[in-house]
Amino acid sequence: RIVHAVQCRLAVRGKGPPILANTPPEDRTQNIIIAIDGPAGAGKSTVASRLAGRLGVPYLDTGSMYRAVALLALRDGLEPPLDERAATHVINLMDRHRIEVEAANGATVILVDGLDVGTDIRSPECSLMASAVSAIAEVRKALVPLQRELGLQKGGVMEGRDIGTVVFPDADLKVFLTASIDERARRRHGDLREREMDTSFEEVREQQQQRDLQDTSRADSPLQVARGSVVVDTTGLTLDEVVERLFEEVVRIR
Ligand code: C5P
Repeated sequence: RIVHAVQCRLAVRGKGPPILANTPPEDRTQNIIIAIDGPAGAGKSTVASRLAGRLGVPYLDTGSMYRAVALLALRDGLEPPLDERAATHVINLMDRHRIEVEAANGATVILVDGLDVGTDIRSPECSLMASAVSAIAEVRKALVPLQRELGLQKGGVMEGRDIGTVVFPDADLKVFLTASIDERARRRHGDLREREMDTSFEEVREQQQQRDLQDTSRADSPLQVARGSVVVDTTGLTLDEVVERLFEEVVRIR
């Protein structure tokens, strides 16, 4: 019922040279599924998108799908925390609107009713609301099959909170990215400032902690280290170092 209201467009291949260019096409990384999970601000998005570009496979930011649902909720005047009535309201909103996802050129494009909401979904309010709507079981029930479908079509690097535990527990490679709370808050604060969103470091740190707590303690698909994950603490590592580390893991499993 809900699933058909959330439509997805086909994932397309990301930019960048394909991995292991000298190997026959059938041996390349086509359809490889790489799951990257971790708390807010661990660097998942940037790392996942760069890795996907380097491998020439799609990148899918599953958080953007929860954020799109959150945007619908915010626009309709809801505020976290969401009680049962508000949760039903959110589910109805998903029925009434169309969310489309496209993994294209190293970015996840997300459309609500045909309009690109890529910028609107990045506000701090939307982050907190995304965490709240993602705890609603029906919301996850609608989005997870779509994420599986996208992954099964072309493979790719998929990033979120439950990819290795729930969406693709049999992923070819599972990664858990983390970093100290201060480092994660610093990165997110930097991102927000770049986008000219005015929040203090303390505020960002506090909101991040709140999201971590919600995301790890919810009943449905809490953030956990999936069995068999490579755990990478990115505190003090550069982006290039993390991408290189994961690229080596991919080469090792192929
Ligand atoms: O990754 P991002 O910070 O954009 O995700 C926003 C929120 O969406 C997270 O705080 C989390 O609550 C939720 N989420 C989730 N499962 C995913 C991806 C994101 O519950 N696979």
